[in-house]
Parts: sequence; structure tokens; C-alpha cells
Amino acid sequence: MPVTGPGTYNVRKMKKRIFIGTAAAVLVIGLAVLAVCLRPQTKPLPAAGAEDYPVLRLGDSGEAAGELNRGLNTLGYGGEGEVFDRDTLRALLSFQRQNGLDADGIAGKQTWTALLGGTAVTAAPTVTPPLSALKAEGKPYEDPRGLPLLVNRSCPLPENYQPLALVLLNDYCDPAVATVKNPDTYAEKEAADALIRMLTAACEEGIFPWQISSAYRTPEQQQAELEAQAAAYRQENDLSEADALSAARKTVALPGTSEHHLGTCFDITVPEKWFAGTDQYRWMAKNCWDYGFILRYAADKEEITGFLAEAWHYRYVGREIAQAMRDANLCLE
Ligand SMILES: [Zn+2]
Repeated sequence: MPVTGPGTYNVRKMKKRIFIGTAAAVLVIGLAVLAVCLRPQTKPLPAAGAEDYPVLRLGDSGEAAGELNRGLNTLGYGGEGEVFDRDTLRALLSFQRQNGLDADGIAGKQTWTALLGGTAVTAAPTVTPPLSALKAEGKPYEDPRGLPLLVNRSCPLPENYQPLALVLLNDYCDPAVATVKNPDTYAEKEAADALIRMLTAACEEGIFPWQISSAYRTPEQQQAELEAQAAAYRQENDLSEADALSAARKTVALPGTSEHHLGTCFDITVPEKWFAGTDQYRWMAKNCWDYGFILRYAADKEEITGFLAEAWHYRYVGREIAQAMRDANLCLE
């Protein structure tokens, strides 16, 4: 005969409590596991050796990405912060090339071993030749200031093309007017003067901040730019090497065919923002012409220029020509 009474009731009550407690614990653990699985792609830094480091690619973030950036930066390749961004990708490709690794832009075991093993070589000195050498050897293609000069896929520059007078933008440009993303950026002097006049005027009208992301590039730098873009496409869209390269060619000119070799073009941006939607872009679209600049790759001229629109790329052609081109709605082609 079953014994019932207050004792039985307490046992049932206790069992019920244990059941509720267990269910709650399972729920908490389940939620914790789910949270770990669903968190953004942050990869923590392991305590052990190189073989335990996670494989990192474009877009990854966290401690390990920070460690990658610090390691690359210490060796002079660049890279900053806790995110594997485009700058990390460029730095990594250069690191892999200079250390005889597969230049795939992915930080895997080989990269970590080289980076943490203390045997990696530091970045080779900049490929930008010193100013004195440029002045001594420099033979302009046509007009010394290259105004205007068509450079595109079908009109490449000769291999020995050198702009006449390059200045180091970082020394030249007041950081209150514009910051220069890469301290090693040169530009042709007359164009740099016009750029500073233009951005100073914008600042006086309350339109700032400004950043110069790129100006003069050597053919070697252009090649590195193209390879970085191809590597980014490969990682973002899972393309084959050939498909990634042909996609990259639509947005990055081949070495010798980039206007950036002239030193009279600037990629003008706003830190941390997509330029096309900013007040700075609207100001440039309205005013750049009066300072001698043209929006080189416009959305309504993609078919003529063969380039997708670039809201950030401005070419110096001198004030008269720029204004005439604006009024007649022309592009250089
Ligand atoms: Zn550009």
C-alpha cells in the first residue's frame, strides 16, 4: 500500500524542483552554446604555438587578427587594429611574397610559422624612388605637367615615364586640411598645390574631414594593388584565380595604364565612410572643376571610359580645361 502524506508531497515537490532546476540549467547552457556559435567571426588568440593559430582571411576580426596586424606592422609591412581588412590583405600579400610563401592573402599555418618564428624578413624599402633620382632621370612623356594626357588601357604610358616634380604629400599637406592614409604617398607638385587649395576652401566652408587614400603610384605599386584586389575577390566571392584577376581588372588598371602613374590623380575619401554618399562628395561634384580637377570616372560615362564609376578618383587637368570639360559634359576619352 503506497504511503502518502506530507513526506511524499515533499519528495514530489523536491523532484519537481530538481526537474525545473535541471531544465533551466540545460536552457542556460544551450543558450550559451548558441551564443558562442552565433557570435561574429572573432577568432581568439591561442596560448600555444603557430600551428594552433586560426586560419584568417579578409573580414575576420578579434585577437588573432590584431596579432596578425601587429606582427606585420612590426616587420614594416603595415596593418593596424583588430580587423583583417584590405590594408591587412595588402600587407600580408607583400609579406608572403617577400618571405617566399604562397601569396594567397590567407594567414594559415605557413604564415603564422614565418611570422612568429622570428625568421621572417622585414619589408623591403619602399619602391618609390627618391626625389633626386626622379628629377635626374625624369623625362616627361609630353607636356612636363602632363596636362591633359590620356592614359587608359589603349594608351599606356611608356615604361620609363616619370613625373617631373613629386612631393611627399605627408610633408606637404596640413593635417588639419587632409590626412594622408599612407605616409609614403607622393604626388606631382602642381596638382598637389591645387588639391590643397581646393580642400582648404572646402574646410573653410565647413566641409571636412578629408583623406587622401592614394596619389602617385609606381607600376610595381599598381601591380601590388591589382593582386590585392584579385585576392580580395577570391576570398569574398570564392572565385578561381583567373576569374578573380579578370574581375579585378575591371576596377584596377594594369600597370602602365593607370592614371596614378602621372602623379596628378588623387583618391579622395572620408575616413571610415563610403565616399559617394558624403557631404564631401557632393561638395567635390559641384566645386572640383573650379580648382582644375575632373571627376575622371563618372557613372554616366562608364561605357566610354571602360571603368566602373569611381566617386573618389579626381584628376588634375588645370582650371580652364576642367571647366570646359564640365560645361561640355566631356571625359578625357
Ligand atoms: Zn584612383
